[in-house]
Amino acid sequence: MSWKTFPKLELHLHIEGAAPPKFIRGLAQEKSINLDRVFDERGAYAYRDFPEFLKVYEAATQVLKTPRDYQRLTRAVLENCAENGVIYAETFISPDFCGGRDLGAWREYLHAIQEIAAEVEAELGIILRGIVTCIRHFGPEKAKETAICAAETAGDWIVGFGMGGDETILRQGDYAWAFDCAREAGLRLTTHAGEWGGPDAIRQAIDDLRVDRIGHGVRAIEDPRLVDILAEREIVLEICPGSNVALGLYRNFAAHPIARLRDAGVKVTVSTDDPPFFHTTMGREYEELERAFGWGAEDFAALNDTALGAAFCDPATRESLKKRLETYA
Ligand SMILES: [Zn+2]
Repeated sequence: MSWKTFPKLELHLHIEGAAPPKFIRGLAQEKSINLDRVFDERGAYAYRDFPEFLKVYEAATQVLKTPRDYQRLTRAVLENCAENGVIYAETFISPDFCGGRDLGAWREYLHAIQEIAAEVEAELGIILRGIVTCIRHFGPEKAKETAICAAETAGDWIVGFGMGGDETILRQGDYAWAFDCAREAGLRLTTHAGEWGGPDAIRQAIDDLRVDRIGHGVRAIEDPRLVDILAEREIVLEICPGSNVALGLYRNFAAHPIARLRDAGVKVTVSTDDPPFFHTTMGREYEELERAFGWGAEDFAALNDTALGAAFCDPATRESLKKRLETYA
């Protein structure tokens, strides 16, 4: 069945990665920027593997040059989310792409994004919050500058700090300064780990960065003791099954460990990561989970409960979301 209208919370969504290809193509045309190698003949994002995905991602992002561009992007992304039943989303935003880690410029981007998010919330009811994200393959020094931007703008809207990018570069602990800085500013923490790195990367994230949530974390399944630790400490995984399948980490949804992790007591949530890159939407993720594991309304309501508890938003926002979910049920 279609789960499109079922209310959903999404915790792992990269704002540039959620850009509809048509939107990026339109912007490139307006600005006369050549993006030939970014798209395939059908107009979808073209890449063969994860390193190429990162390159295409950064190439597409180059058309986003001003706060106004990010405003238009935010609207396009939120409209797609709302169409798929998402009532609350946390999105990764990076001062690396928004103003080159200059605090003044970052504030302008952020202001523009928040302004449009409030406008779309009033129209469609979808609530957006931001997680400032450093890019791992840009290195620890740039991550420090990013963390300072995060700390300076921490509040009701910027609610978390995280790290994305190439997980095979350096170790999680090499970025501890940035995560400590963000934590001291009151931000909650998440990092990508256990997608391209194995269980050891997840242990590093827990021990060296002391994160609240883990982006992906699916490869914990290779280490039963680690699965127990995640369950005991209630460390929430932001799982993106469609992303993992599209990038070849697992053959298909049926081979994905999300159900095994959940059944072992790990707190799991479902997100789309970079939906148009992986030909997915939140609606499609739910349909595939139903097909692969027979999950239904009760399972999806449990995902919402976990996501609600793990969301980095303030208590008032959490309470209002809880009411909306109860009203739907
Ligand atoms: Zn991600």
